Amino acid sequence: MTDAVTTLPAPAPIIEMQGVDKWYGSFQVLTDIDLSVRAGERIVLCGPSGSGKSTLIRCINRLETVQKGRIVVDGIDLTAGGKNVDAVRAEVGMVFQQFNLFPHLTILENCVLSPMRSKGMSRQEAEATAMQYLKRVRIPEQAQKYPSQLSGGQQQRVAIARALCLSPKVMLFDEPTSALDPEMVKEVLDTMIGLADDGMTMLCVTHEMGFARSVADRVIFMADGKILEQAPPAQFFGQPRHEKTRQFLGQIL
Ligand code: ADP
Ligand code: MG
Repeated sequence: MTDAVTTLPAPAPIIEMQGVDKWYGSFQVLTDIDLSVRAGERIVLCGPSGSGKSTLIRCINRLETVQKGRIVVDGIDLTAGGKNVDAVRAEVGMVFQQFNLFPHLTILENCVLSPMRSKGMSRQEAEATAMQYLKRVRIPEQAQKYPSQLSGGQQQRVAIARALCLSPKVMLFDEPTSALDPEMVKEVLDTMIGLADDGMTMLCVTHEMGFARSVADRVIFMADGKILEQAPPAQFFGQPRHEKTRQFLGQIL
């Protein structure tokens, strides 16, 4: 007889993609993507430019639709119909390469907008929440400024704080440091490391392999719209299995 503890079902993954295919017109951008992310996991997704990384993560908050397969996020089936989009957007925070802050709104207004509109938070509550996260990314003193008055690194930290204001269960990052001047990369990576230390579930597209080595539980390599291999960082960097992975690592390391 088996022990009761060992027969408990594993917790459902927070992100589950099964057999996902996606085309842009006649171009197949994703082929048979299977990806399962557990709560608390930190995943780095890498691969050559054009391999489909942005498309893959955009599918997870339904910025893109897919033609085949299943995507379930925290129990919400995104491929079941249109109504689930708002529900999933509230659970999945996204940070882009270009910070995508609203230029005509102050930092604070950027942070309170969605919580007030989509979560029905009062202004007072939304502002308190925003200040809490602006402190966490270490720029509460910038709250009344406009995005153009901040450095790129500060803007990206605001973008992270803004996403956190919705209490997401997962954070998706799409090359969050690629548009930054080199001296600002570290402050954004440090913010991301802080999030990881707090137990946030994270799926990060990044070529910052130092970050991958120190933070990721798993590194996933994509090429030509397919997941070619995935492994813990030590194995991924130490013994890459595919020639394409070796080529890629040779170019970026
Ligand atoms: P990555 O993020 O890995 O660089 P993307 O997901 O951005 O890759 O793009 C994968 C491929 O899909 C590229 O060949 C790109 O040109 C193409 N692509 C991306 N977005 C679109 C789109 N909206 N319409 C048509 N093709 C697209
Ligand atoms: Mg991309």
